[in-house]
Amino acid sequence: PLILGIETSCDETGIGIVRGSTLLANVITSSMDEHARYGGVVPEVAARAHLEALEPALRAALAEAGVTLAELDAIAVTSGPGLSGALMVGVGAAKALAVALDKPIYAVNHLVGHVGADVLRTDGTSIELPTIALLVSGGHTSLLLVRDLVSDVELLGETIDDAAGEAFDKVARLLGLPYPGGPHIDRVAEGGDPKAIRFPRGLSQSKDMAKHRYDFSFSGLKTAVARWVEAKRDAGEDVPMADVAASFREAVADILLTKALAACAAYGIPRLLLGGGVVANARIRELAAERCAAAGVELRIPPLELCTDNGAMIAALGAQLVQAGFPPSTLDFSADSTLPVTTIQA
Ligand code: ATP
Ligand code: MG
Ligand code: FE
Repeated sequence: PLILGIETSCDETGIGIVRGSTLLANVITSSMDEHARYGGVVPEVAARAHLEALEPALRAALAEAGVTLAELDAIAVTSGPGLSGALMVGVGAAKALAVALDKPIYAVNHLVGHVGADVLRTDGTSIELPTIALLVSGGHTSLLLVRDLVSDVELLGETIDDAAGEAFDKVARLLGLPYPGGPHIDRVAEGGDPKAIRFPRGLSQSKDMAKHRYDFSFSGLKTAVARWVEAKRDAGEDVPMADVAASFREAVADILLTKALAACAAYGIPRLLLGGGVVANARIRELAAERCAAAGVELRIPPLELCTDNGAMIAALGAQLVQAGFPPSTLDFSADSTLPVTTIQA
């Protein structure tokens, strides 16, 4: 089926068009530049930016795919989780299109969309299920057990405080690096020693494991970095930026992959899928490759433009729902900022 996907859960306005598992267009506009001076995504600013970006992005996607609105079989839209006002813009636009064009609409889960992105890969391989999936972005850090993309996704764990990307952004800020800080930390860390400072691995102690085996916590790590940097500054010493960045990055990568591979082992699932913007991180990719190889786990990382927020992954999940024979969503759904991952279609 020919599906249009609309994604507006955070700062990216994403319009994607797929035919089944074939990517036809993936147009992404981000309002990140407007948020940079505030040091974080400002919900009102994001919502307004979506309103401005949607129509041109839609036209560009249709042109890129070489299709018309009339040819679409259905419209898929992210209804949650995400920023409420931002989601509402995409949901409103999708409903308007569905009504005007008299097309079925599928309201889908953003996080499951990240997993669905994998079906669009062009390397001839396809996702094998069940799989463990680790989604790491500015707003989410979630470990999922995906048995079936359209009907069976289980949340194994998630962050109990900051998301992984948020931790990168906060540590970058305290090191005086620009927002969003993830790419800057990544770059600075390349020149440092990851073993220089042993930062804490949150929720890894045996006392935490009973309740939080697959959960993550990054706020303690961020505080530990802040204290360490402060102590250096108080002592009148130079802060070894590269070593701090490398040691922090190592801690995040270690925490994420230790838990993800523990889940693979515990559930007997030799597959790990990564998604979300933090997957751009060089050390996370490297350590994922090392640990997966050592454990005999197949590692899948979709291309980066399908890892960060985009409309194509939403269209792809919509196509999977259509192909599986699921009925469309009724038009009374609304944006749900806390949509649970178990609700694949709203
Ligand atoms: P959502 O959480 O809704 O998916 P988002 O817009 O917050 O949306 P993404 O756009 O997927 O998330 O990712 C942005 C985050 O990824 C930012 O926190 C950014 O710092 C982080 N990031 C980007 N590149 C890197 C990198 N190389 N290393 C670490 N973090 C990175
Ligand atoms: Mg983003
Ligand atoms: Fe996302």
